[in-house]
Amino acid sequence: MQFLKDFGVSIFFILAFGTGIFLLSRGGVELDFSALLNRATAILSLSAGSLNGWRAEGGFTKDVFPGEKSHFISYLKEYLASRGASLGSSSLFDDKTQSALIDFQKNNSLPTTGALDAGTRAFINDDLAEDLCPSSDGNEQEDDTLESVSRDHELRDDYAPANLVLLPDEVRKNGIICVTEDTADALLSMMRAASNDGIYLRVTSGFRRFEIQEYLYDLYKKINGPDFWRGIASPGHSEHQLGTTVDLTGLSIKNASTSAAFGKSKEGSWMSLHAGDYGFVMSYPDGKESVTGYKYEPWHWRFVGVDVAKKVRASGKTLCEFLKDLSSGK
Ligand SMILES: [Zn+2]
Repeated sequence: MQFLKDFGVSIFFILAFGTGIFLLSRGGVELDFSALLNRATAILSLSAGSLNGWRAEGGFTKDVFPGEKSHFISYLKEYLASRGASLGSSSLFDDKTQSALIDFQKNNSLPTTGALDAGTRAFINDDLAEDLCPSSDGNEQEDDTLESVSRDHELRDDYAPANLVLLPDEVRKNGIICVTEDTADALLSMMRAASNDGIYLRVTSGFRRFEIQEYLYDLYKKINGPDFWRGIASPGHSEHQLGTTVDLTGLSIKNASTSAAFGKSKEGSWMSLHAGDYGFVMSYPDGKESVTGYKYEPWHWRFVGVDVAKKVRASGKTLCEFLKDLSSGK
């Protein structure tokens, strides 16, 4: 949003122009209007924290009725507020929420039950999935599969890869997770092969848009000590924004998220042996913090394709060094 503020352009002004105008001249500076529209899509229906909460719980998964109280109702109220309703922030499904929900159902040709029923849940879940994993809408996005993303090299804050897909039911995972189509295909093959070997991997994180990374970064800062930054990328600097990177865990460590124990677990050992055959590389190996900028993260795997994964292994370099050298033509 800083970009918009820099140019003093109100978001409402942008929306009012619609999609017909692609260039806007202001004080001799030509602005790419389609880029501004991309920024406009960063207005989410929920705050990044609530969107991440909704994601982690697998979306609205059960019916909710007037009179009930739960954090799902807070998400629902926030969602209805983003559609113009004026509601408080409590977690109670009160009369006001019910009438706002009936209005919403009417406006979207849904049965006016006044409850968060299956049809309404599916409608809102679809809408929020689009916020979580924006489709490219025909906008040409560069292929950043081999982009060097590091402490000192960032992605545009509106960057989202083309071809994001939700991971299918077959993939064991925590909540709703999307990655690029190629990554999903490779992940599915890899997890099937692992299962055949009695290894049960689980995905705990995939694509994260800039706003979600920003939320997580602030959260880490609050809950971890002064060293918090060693284990998390600042917004724009995360490989997760590429849509090609996943965090994994395994059954033998009780599916603990982002656990260093994954490295020595049987699932972690299986990954060290086989991940390259499916195009995945561990970005932040042990003892390489001075090179990668990150402490050991045995759970964090980036998809680069089988050929590159094999070259990285043969080079003896970290992925970070390999991609930097690749981009500078070394
Ligand atoms: Zn990660």
